[in-house]
Amino acid sequence: MKDCLFCRIVNKEISSDLIYETDSLVAFKDISPQAPHHILIIPKKHIPTLNDLTDEDTDLVGEIFLAAKKLASDLGIAESGYRIVLNCNADAGQAVFHIHLHLLGGRQMAWPPG
Ligand code: 5GP
Ligand code: ZN
Repeated sequence: MKDCLFCRIVNKEISSDLIYETDSLVAFKDISPQAPHHILIIPKKHIPTLNDLTDEDTDLVGEIFLAAKKLASDLGIAESGYRIVLNCNADAGQAVFHIHLHLLGGRQMAWPPG
């Protein structure tokens, strides 16, 4: 999608600190990290919010979670722990309307989230 920031990252029109790529997704470092490790995992397909997922996306969602598991292991935080976040719409604070899984780790997290 032309005016979508994350589609432009997917298309390499905007540079990012890319750390993983498959046919269907990319993962890159968040520009404003909230933890020592803060990775965004996004589908290449433009899907604005979690509400827009359909049955067609079932495999894609699985791939995104398996990528999170792999990257947590690669980063060495699988055993110490990490948090996965997916913000949906205004109350959750979603700022970029192309779904993305946040993978956060490398420090103790608080609960409940703010
Ligand atoms: P949201 O609030 O939508 O769940 O998260 C959007 C995330 O995208 C934020 O954590 C923000 O720091 C990150 N972000 C926004 N613009 C850019 C960018 O141009 N490059 C990268 N790497 N991350 C970005
Ligand atoms: Zn997009």
